Amino acid sequence: MCQTVRKGTVFIETVGQFKEQFPAVDLIKNDCYEDFRDDDCLCVLELDDVFDKAGIEYEAEGMEYTIT
Ligand SMILES: [Zn+2]
Repeated sequence: MCQTVRKGTVFIETVGQFKEQFPAVDLIKNDCYEDFRDDDCLCVLELDDVFDKAGIEYEAEGMEYTIT
């Protein structure tokens, strides 16, 4: 199962989609991965760190993140 992000009515599943929705946010790679590309799933990102660093409020339930 992959990490996903729900932002309002938008459901984000890939790095490319994440960039579209959060263009100004620094992406932080999960150490388990060498690198990432736009069509990768969100497992390649450390979403907690990404949101914390950007000051974005969220709730996480399992692998599903919801922007609050
Ligand atoms: Zn995944």
